[in-house]
Amino acid sequence: MSIRLLASAIIAGAVVDVDGAVLSLDAELESVLVGQGRAEWVNSPAIDTDERSRLKALTRAGAVLPPSTTVDNYLTKAFSILDDMSAAATAWNNNKSGCTISDDTTIVRAENGAENALKVAVSSTYVRFQRTFASPVVLSGTVNLWVYFDSNPTAGMTLEVYFSSDYANFATKYFKWYFPGDTYLRKGWNCLSLNTTEDGTTTGATITSGGGESWANAMNGCKIIANGLATGQTFRIGGIFYGGEARANVLCSFDDAYSSLWTVFNVFRRHGVPASVAVITGKVGTSGYLSLHQLTEIYKWGWDIIPHSVTHPAGGFAAKTAEETYAELNQSKQWCERNGFDRTSDIFAWPQNAYASSVGVDLIGLAKAAGFRLSRGSTRRDLPTAQGIDNPMRLPSADVGGKTLAQVKKLLDAAERYKQTNIFYAHKAVGTATSPASGGAAPADTLEWYLADFIALAADIAARSTAGTLKAITYSDLLTRCRV
Ligand SMILES: [Zn+2]
Repeated sequence: MSIRLLASAIIAGAVVDVDGAVLSLDAELESVLVGQGRAEWVNSPAIDTDERSRLKALTRAGAVLPPSTTVDNYLTKAFSILDDMSAAATAWNNNKSGCTISDDTTIVRAENGAENALKVAVSSTYVRFQRTFASPVVLSGTVNLWVYFDSNPTAGMTLEVYFSSDYANFATKYFKWYFPGDTYLRKGWNCLSLNTTEDGTTTGATITSGGGESWANAMNGCKIIANGLATGQTFRIGGIFYGGEARANVLCSFDDAYSSLWTVFNVFRRHGVPASVAVITGKVGTSGYLSLHQLTEIYKWGWDIIPHSVTHPAGGFAAKTAEETYAELNQSKQWCERNGFDRTSDIFAWPQNAYASSVGVDLIGLAKAAGFRLSRGSTRRDLPTAQGIDNPMRLPSADVGGKTLAQVKKLLDAAERYKQTNIFYAHKAVGTATSPASGGAAPADTLEWYLADFIALAADIAARSTAGTLKAITYSDLLTRCRV
């Protein structure tokens, strides 16, 4: 049976005994690939899962790991400090509006080299402050601005970040980034990345410029404007850094563990692309979902299995009580550990990406109490890792659903441009290996994506990996390599 026929047979639901039959078909696929001289595609991705499990056990036991295995944040080039926020309240006290500012050493990114933070107390829906730089700096590559919100930013608020080489004429000569609060900004730390090669096409961030500003010019001022925050809210600026880089990664995450994932797994595996599965533990082995046997096979091939609740309630946990939420967090974590999926049982994917409660429950606090070290929600931007994960319990991710293949490739382009990690998630595969042809419109149901596009995406990631511009990682890679 050809690979394409195999894929379509599984997708079409021709396999009655999903568990046993699919696994035997998979053996057939392997022999076909070996016969074609593609033995490397049937071998596990180059991940030493035993080593990863060992490191995790050591970390849990509080062991000090040898230098070769300590976290490195995928860092390939260190950042330079543009503003360590020392004496920030004095430095930023220019052209100020709608706020009071003060120095605050209680929440500081000391690990980045920051000395202080600028605390901004909001007194109007329009907030503005700016500073000059005594020594103008030519910025190139990625610029990281760290912003801390004490509470969830008001829905609809925006943050604007400006740089100018002509401080006296800031109003007309500038670069400006525009960050919509509901999709970029979260309670806690936010590492906002700007990039001097951004042309506005690789991220959702809007960039504009005025007065013929050029990155060849040395910048001598920075201005920050917040619109739409509520009076009484506070936020902090924790430093500005530039020129650093991390390795670009993609973390492919498949949510809910629908039965069609078995085909997608085989496609990704034979391209040598590891990925992760967020599993609804109460659905495993039920109609339309992968079996425990399949998940075990997937795990053995180096993919991570992470808990994604027991029941996946509609609306997530937004309206659930603390008791209901904790039970699902705890039980889905224990299910993973009980079934041998230990590598990443302490990373949670929030159902519906909903980690903000509408009934006053501290969902993130409950997840921490249940022993989770990372949890994933959904914001549009990539995960910057070079200076550590900014907000470990609110990892960003992007939904493949509703996007064309070209749009998903843009996410990978952005990860490469910013040298960051893109986390995307997908659900079901529909269609066959060839129909509809890859590259068309996405299915109307955002839980679905066409198999032909998954195949093309796996090939694209494999090509980028071969070229050395992007590596596919899993959640446990992230947890092992990055400071959280
Ligand atoms: Zn889900």
